[in-house]
Amino acid sequence: MMTSTSQKPARNHVSILGIPVDRISMKRAVEIILEFLRQDEPKIVITADSSGIVQALKDPEYFDLLQNADLVTPDSIGVIWAAKRKGRAIPGRVSGVDLVDKICGLSADHGFRIFLLGAAPGVAELAAEKLRLKHPGCHIVGTRHGYFPADDDDVVAREVTVFKPDVLLVAMGIPRQEKFIKRTQEIIRAKVAMGVGGSFDVFSGKTKRAPALVQKLRLEWMWRVLLNPKKIAKAKSLPVFAWKVLRSGK
Ligand code: UDP
Repeated sequence: MMTSTSQKPARNHVSILGIPVDRISMKRAVEIILEFLRQDEPKIVITADSSGIVQALKDPEYFDLLQNADLVTPDSIGVIWAAKRKGRAIPGRVSGVDLVDKICGLSADHGFRIFLLGAAPGVAELAAEKLRLKHPGCHIVGTRHGYFPADDDDVVAREVTVFKPDVLLVAMGIPRQEKFIKRTQEIIRAKVAMGVGGSFDVFSGKTKRAPALVQKLRLEWMWRVLLNPKKIAKAKSLPVFAWKVLRSGK
């Protein structure tokens, strides 16, 4: 059923260091995104991991974005641990990579239009190709790389608008991608816009996902750190996150 009004589904969230994280499963996240797609007002979805939350504490613009996002998914084991510690357990992790996959599958069934913005030149195109093969009929209507200065955000937004996307997936890293989404929301007006970090690298095959066993042991972050020294800065924020959560009480 299509509606023309903007309705926010009632939120059931837990506050992690002042960030409202929705207590949702992947199934519920997908249902909410489908609800957003039935509405007219553009919605912002943010996947929150421990290092992103630590970053938000030092970056008022990103903090504000997380406060005002329409959906904040639990994207790390640290976030899930912090929620459980507060007696407000979360069903499981809802990661950007998994959501991209689900959204592309749903696009094949529902016909909504997806634009992939971000990653190095050629990567989003390759990711689109792989996703179309995995989800035949998935409507990825356009792609563009994510290496441009913030001064050109409006110009890139106008390029994207030509493709009339319903869903805009932006892979430019936290918090650049969320800031781009917010600054250009009124130009692009995608019904759902979401930052998806390194997802296009994963789908293009540029980054291999950790083996299933490592994923099962919830150690994919450690696998990534070992393979990518740039992730060390992120890993360093994990003890900071844990310390702040422990100090913040229950
Ligand atoms: N990236 C980009 N533009 C930039 C900087 C980075 O498109 O100016 C891309 C980069 O190529 C990679 C993604 O953003 O595909 C960042 O991935 P990462 O795993 O670091 O994301 P995060 O951990 O921040 O979610």
